Amino acid sequence: MVMIGPAPQIESADEWPPHELEVLGACPICGGSQRRVLFSGLRDLAFASAPGDWTMWRCACGAAYLDPRPTLVSIGAAYARYYTHAPGHERGRVAGRNVLTRAIANIKNDYLNRTFGYRLPAVPLGAAVVRRTSSSRRALEHSIRHLPAPSSKAMRLLDAGCGSGEFLEIASGLGFTSVGLDPDPKAAEAGQRAGLDIRPGILPGSGLERGSFEHVTLKDVLEHLHDPVEALREVWSLLKPSGRVWISQPNLGAVGLAEFGPYWRGLEPPRHLSLTDVDGMRALLQRCGFVNVQILPPQPSAAFYFKQSLYQRHGLDPYGEEPLHEWNHAWEQRSRKADADAARNYRIGESLTVVAYRPA
Ligand SMILES: [Zn+2]
Repeated sequence: MVMIGPAPQIESADEWPPHELEVLGACPICGGSQRRVLFSGLRDLAFASAPGDWTMWRCACGAAYLDPRPTLVSIGAAYARYYTHAPGHERGRVAGRNVLTRAIANIKNDYLNRTFGYRLPAVPLGAAVVRRTSSSRRALEHSIRHLPAPSSKAMRLLDAGCGSGEFLEIASGLGFTSVGLDPDPKAAEAGQRAGLDIRPGILPGSGLERGSFEHVTLKDVLEHLHDPVEALREVWSLLKPSGRVWISQPNLGAVGLAEFGPYWRGLEPPRHLSLTDVDGMRALLQRCGFVNVQILPPQPSAAFYFKQSLYQRHGLDPYGEEPLHEWNHAWEQRSRKADADAARNYRIGESLTVVAYRPA
């Protein structure tokens, strides 16, 4: 989830300060050094706030990663124009604020009640309405991150990389005791002002209590982390036995990557440090000790990815005011088809979604 801030602050001709770069020489996912260049000369096309040309490598394990990359100390400069954190953009999906949104929420709630075991206020036959459209059903399932209803209010959920806590509100509305973690102090403060339990911090090194969560969710987070392996090992230890992790992130197997190459929105250098496809994510989770890894239907997001990628290919600001003349009916159809194809073949979705469990 990305919201946009003020205008670009750094001209793209600038370099990332060389002393703030780190060279890996090996894959941050598997440690192997057998690799080839996937893309070179990548730039921050999405936000135009991070200077530098970036090289993305494809490891023999299937993962892709930036090398060199900004150090952990300096990476914050790449987020100058990046707000995951504007309040409100994910709010109100479960509990509506006016009559119309409440009516829609009650239709959706009927589906959630029947599918995930909730007891939310609902209208009868709402589920039948939701089931009629595959993409809206999948979007709804994603909006609650496929969470089964909690058996008690004591069930704890951690949203790592929570921003200002939009999903914490949803999870609390679903009956979880919700805790957030975010490295952006402004985001954490905004959430705290709204009465949410948000701790400043990052994975690994969160300082949270081990074995204290039934659920951990990471939405568009893992690809931003310098050490995804240690991050997931910490998630494993934060979970209670049989606890579940839910992850969603851009998919290296996306049809959009094949279509748009270096302009694909999912690359987002230098904020996205590593990416995997479905198989790579499964292997990564298993290496970190998770079991029962399940790939879930991806979020219907091709319109977002395709449109943003087209903006980038034209050298336009994807969040700017300029119209994208190439975006037409044919592209809308293509994106709907891509979502429909991905609903049958999860390996080619623009993003991937997965759940896995700490052993009992
Ligand atoms: Zn690798």
